[in-house]
Amino acid sequence: MARVVVTGGAGFLGSHLTDALLDRGDEVVVLDNLVTGSLRNLQHLAGRDGFTFVNHDVTEPVSVPGEVDAVLHFASPASPPAYLALPVETLMVGSRGTHNALGLARAKGARFMVSSTSEVYGDPSVHPQPESYWGNVNPIGPRSVYDEAKRFTEALTMAYHRTHGLDVRIVRIFNTYGPRMQHDDGRVVTNFIMQALKGEPLTIYGDGSQTRSFCFVDDEVRGFLALLDGDHTGPINIGNDGEFTMLELAEVVLEVTGSSSTLEHRPLPVDDPRQRRPDLTLARSLLGWEPTIALHEGVTRTTEYFRGLLDAGEI
Ligand code: NAD
Ligand code: UDP
Repeated sequence: MARVVVTGGAGFLGSHLTDALLDRGDEVVVLDNLVTGSLRNLQHLAGRDGFTFVNHDVTEPVSVPGEVDAVLHFASPASPPAYLALPVETLMVGSRGTHNALGLARAKGARFMVSSTSEVYGDPSVHPQPESYWGNVNPIGPRSVYDEAKRFTEALTMAYHRTHGLDVRIVRIFNTYGPRMQHDDGRVVTNFIMQALKGEPLTIYGDGSQTRSFCFVDDEVRGFLALLDGDHTGPINIGNDGEFTMLELAEVVLEVTGSSSTLEHRPLPVDDPRQRRPDLTLARSLLGWEPTIALHEGVTRTTEYFRGLLDAGEI
């Protein structure tokens, strides 16, 4: 059993990670300022032994009383519309927030794990992306507030590791989806499912030939725990290496939902990566981890979640 601090634990990934930690008997303290997360993601944990929620902005000094064995820093706006609407907050949580979380881990003698992203590869010229690829990021484009914040996060984490001997883990997360995403986060999976369920046109940005690789959240969280519990600092890619164009994703969503929505093309966002697929060699060989849930099944489970919220009038 361990006592674990999860920053961003009221968000999509942080709340699933919190569930997994509690289920295996760990205590969890969530720090979250709810800027993009929601207490709805944690309401099933109210009153549960070993669970504490603290409403706190981690760009402000962080203090957690008592022993802490691990600090998992997952706080950050994550969807493109969210970080484009919160550009300074995104840079600050990646820099100051990471500094505070590292400081907490160091003060407690705790292990530190941080959520980085496939966005550190930018619009990649190497495909699929191995961890050894340094990326192709526009440092001043609109997406840079997120991409550069995460690159700085990785650099600061490695500086603490080298300078202070802090025990660190860096996970590079590729597009992940599933229940508890915000229905209006503007990411492609939620947009398509919500549009299909409402009978609205599916919005395809550009010609829809750009690719992404989508990982269902249960697989992703299993990967986080494998990295956390293992001996490897990383960075390690965790995602699904099935690769789909946005047009293919739209077809899967239409099939799963049984919707007769049409497709509508919209302009491609600035610096939108053309292609993305993780090279999972390290995850497979070092962690013995690989994804198991195919896109069709994951989209089915995600659709059930959003249909439930719509039927209950919650969204
Ligand atoms: P999310 O927006 O659902 O969760 C992020 C959480 O962080 C939210 O609850 C938000 O309120 C909280 N937060 C943000 N700024 C904060 C601050 N200053 N202080 C305290 N809490 C703060 O996003 P998510 O998809 O769950 O992403 C979680 C992490 O994983 C992020 O670091 C993100 O960059 C990373 N990531 C996610 C994906 C993905 O596909 N979902 C891909 C790559 C990386
Ligand atoms: N996209 C789309 N329609 C939408 C939302 C997004 O075609 O309604 C595209 C977007 O241009 C990108 C891909 O889907 O090429 C994934 O976008 P998302 O915002 O989910 O995440 P990203 O991987 O770009 O961070």
